Amino acid sequence: MYYDLHIHSALSPCAGDEMTPGNVCAMAALKDLGIIAVTDHNSAGNLRAFSKVCRAKGILLLPGIEVCTSEEVHVLAYFPTVSQAERMGDWCRQQLMGQKNKPDFFGRQRLLDWEDRVTGEEDALLIGALAADLNQVCGIVRALDGVPVPAHVYRSYGLMKVLGFFPPEAGFRAAEAGRDERLPEGMTALCSSDAHELGAIAEPEQKLPLKTRSAQSVLALLRDGIP
Ligand SMILES: [Zn+2]
Ligand SMILES: [Zn+2]
Repeated sequence: MYYDLHIHSALSPCAGDEMTPGNVCAMAALKDLGIIAVTDHNSAGNLRAFSKVCRAKGILLLPGIEVCTSEEVHVLAYFPTVSQAERMGDWCRQQLMGQKNKPDFFGRQRLLDWEDRVTGEEDALLIGALAADLNQVCGIVRALDGVPVPAHVYRSYGLMKVLGFFPPEAGFRAAEAGRDERLPEGMTALCSSDAHELGAIAEPEQKLPLKTRSAQSVLALLRDGIP
């Protein structure tokens, strides 16, 4: 099943206004993606709408959040259900540094319903580091039955770029990397788009060897790696 496990919605200030549930899911369907993850910065605010539209389109949604740790490392947190992701989102909100969004400068942070109607705007600035460090973030994600996966490890805000190594105690078995980038031995590479605009959503090129079509089986692969 083709996947793209790193897509931003219009809730991320840096993403285009066209990144609505309807548009993203239509593009994913057009590209024959069977599974997508919507991973806004430090928030789960649009996941419920995406979940409804994905279900209607026959796409499996893996609920996610792209968390920025206090070290300024981006970690993708994936969950079995939207409710668990929302609990993570609530926790992230408490850990944000209290800065307000300046829409004219950072971009709008749109909350949307499943019919692409704007239901509100998030006023806390979602980009930026949380007060919690990498270990704390991974601990909370796992306590909510989720799996933390370091994002774009060799690029800005990536684990290798910031820390220079994979901390063994973090227990990562999978990480996001570019197609030509090599991960340490035994680590499973995920190649997703980090799309902030519709055209950037992944082409049908990367597949996950899933036994069953469920969020749980994707999470098992991310947790244990692909043997
Ligand atoms: Zn990132
Ligand atoms: Zn991202």
